[in-house]
Amino acid sequence: MNDILPKDQIWWDLVGQAGRRVAELHNFSFIETPLLESAALFEAGIGVNTDIVEKEMFSFRTKGGDTVALRPEGTAPVMRSYFQHQLGYFSSPLKVFYSGPMFRYERPQAGRERQFHQWGVEIIGDGDPVYDAAVILVCLDFFNEVKLKDIQLKINTLGCRVCRPTYRQKLKDYYRLRKSKLCKDCQRRYDKNAFRLLDCKEEECLKMRGGAPIILDYLCQNCNNHFKSLLEIIEDNNVVYEPDSYLVRGLDYYNRTVFQFHHPSSPQELGGGGRYDYLAELLGGRMIPGVGVALGLERIIDAVRGRNANIQPKLGMKIFWVAVGDQAQKSSLKLMGQLRRAGVIVGENLGRKSLRAQLKAVNRAKVKVALIFGQKEVFEGTIIIRDMETGGQETVFLKNLIEEVRKRLR
Ligand code: AMP
Repeated sequence: MNDILPKDQIWWDLVGQAGRRVAELHNFSFIETPLLESAALFEAGIGVNTDIVEKEMFSFRTKGGDTVALRPEGTAPVMRSYFQHQLGYFSSPLKVFYSGPMFRYERPQAGRERQFHQWGVEIIGDGDPVYDAAVILVCLDFFNEVKLKDIQLKINTLGCRVCRPTYRQKLKDYYRLRKSKLCKDCQRRYDKNAFRLLDCKEEECLKMRGGAPIILDYLCQNCNNHFKSLLEIIEDNNVVYEPDSYLVRGLDYYNRTVFQFHHPSSPQELGGGGRYDYLAELLGGRMIPGVGVALGLERIIDAVRGRNANIQPKLGMKIFWVAVGDQAQKSSLKLMGQLRRAGVIVGENLGRKSLRAQLKAVNRAKVKVALIFGQKEVFEGTIIIRDMETGGQETVFLKNLIEEVRKRLR
């Protein structure tokens, strides 16, 4: 779990604001769910045989005896909220977005943290492929907004209850003969979650995958039509994509469309999503179709940063306040308050008494203007304005301070 330090905030602001702006332009409303939920929500929604639920949830028993978990993802909580507040009643489909920390007990490595941040959107209440496309398009607008080019979109379908069992059986038939050559994890996955065999990065498993059957050969008519329509819509929108018959995702709730976004600078994907028409049922409700995506903000920030390594953080502070003498120091906070209420960001180093030490701080802050307030100025009701670029100084009356400062910041 990482700190996000002051020097990094510029990137978080840039990406955070872009995410909000783009989601709102696409008419998504912001939703915030708690960081802590009942562990059963994720067990039922994501699936007990997934890596997330099996190994990665931070869960514990409360004093009251409930088992809760820090949220490992955002979709199941949004669906819980959908039911709890009957959100479908207010808008159908419901279009919401979220942004915030998620928690997974993973082996920490580059691009994988135990607390990370996701921006995600969900469209709940309609199964039409036009909404799958809408989710993909809002992501592409987000990447565009943060000026990430060369985004690669991989896309696949996982079929539905009708066609998926036949495909799963074919897949198991294929792997049964080769089971002994699979890695330990895949041998375990074979019985519990055969699709995940396609997802394994181990060399032997990857080699074996080359000959595995693909779902496109087993899709039912409805799933076939759904997938074809989606591809037509995104092609109509000039979206470049790469069909990937082996793309499956780590959460059980996906059906039909699944997709992932990649960027050349990042070994792992930047984000992914898909359709989850059975999630509502898994959580004990009626069937309500849905589609969504989650993008990893750390990975996006790394990619954006890589492209803009020479961009310096823009300094908000342009004014530095220097006070010399007890009397001046005493009146300083009040006068700085006036400037701040007028919207001027003012820096200071009032704990330092000497003029020299404070001027050093002015230089370090790289501001445009320093205000120097000493005994004489207190007595006269004036202040010295020093232009740090030219070195020129001028004394002005305190009553005109805001106006004089604004003039120089223009
Ligand atoms: P998922 O919810 O697993 O589909 O993940 C969606 C996106 O969240 C991924 O593509 C990553 O960008 C990001 N993500 C997932 N897990 C982590 C992690 N442990 N550390 C950093 N980012 C993550």
